[in-house]
Amino acid sequence: VNLIDTHCHINFPDAFPDPAAAIREAQESGVRTLVVIGIDLESCKRALRLAEEHENVFAVVGIHPNYAHLYDAHALAEVRRFLSSPKAVALGEIGLDYHWDFATPDQQRLALVEQLDLAAQLDLPVVFHCRKAYGDLLALLEARPAQPYLFHCFSGDRNDARRALDLGGVLGVDGPITYKSAKELREIVAETPLDQIVLETDSPYMTPEPHRGKPNKPAYIPFINNALAATKRISAEESATATTANARRFFRLP
Ligand SMILES: [Zn+2]
Repeated sequence: VNLIDTHCHINFPDAFPDPAAAIREAQESGVRTLVVIGIDLESCKRALRLAEEHENVFAVVGIHPNYAHLYDAHALAEVRRFLSSPKAVALGEIGLDYHWDFATPDQQRLALVEQLDLAAQLDLPVVFHCRKAYGDLLALLEARPAQPYLFHCFSGDRNDARRALDLGGVLGVDGPITYKSAKELREIVAETPLDQIVLETDSPYMTPEPHRGKPNKPAYIPFINNALAATKRISAEESATATTANARRFFRLP
């Protein structure tokens, strides 16, 4: 079964000096499709370039909340221009991050709302980054007409998960599901409908067991798929088939 890494940063040159090698290694591990995510203008450009060079690589472009202090009308115009590429499949990662304070909450909210409006205008799905800010993000989304949403590296509580799923959202599951300490996350995932889950590495971050402590890479998706299958008490094949279908549907992949 073809697996999909729906969130990786092989566009970060320090972590992935040879992204083509990471793509090849992933494909050899059965991870044949990669979605590469931008966080600022430079990384968006690199994500698009990789997507244009490799058939099974797609790009998601947008300004991350930790870069929202650099967000302005020019950045928005650039994101709009990037989205005109047929290999750009969603807007993201955008959202709110109250763990870090590179950008103020007001700067983050402005970048979030204007990019959400752009996604609505272009009828594109949206990938969210959210850290310690689920209450504010969900309240903002609940007050808007629904769009297709992916909550990347979901780290909220049960109530946040219910609200995200009620919006029709998809939860991104990654390395933490393999961590011994992530009992609540596994309980949430066990209760989440299988058709609202996708797999992601968030590489080079969030490395799954048994490689925790080393940099992450898209080739590690099978470890996350196995942990998801164990959590849902289904076969690895069933979990691969379902999550791949979900990712294809969400990103409208060919
Ligand atoms: Zn990311």
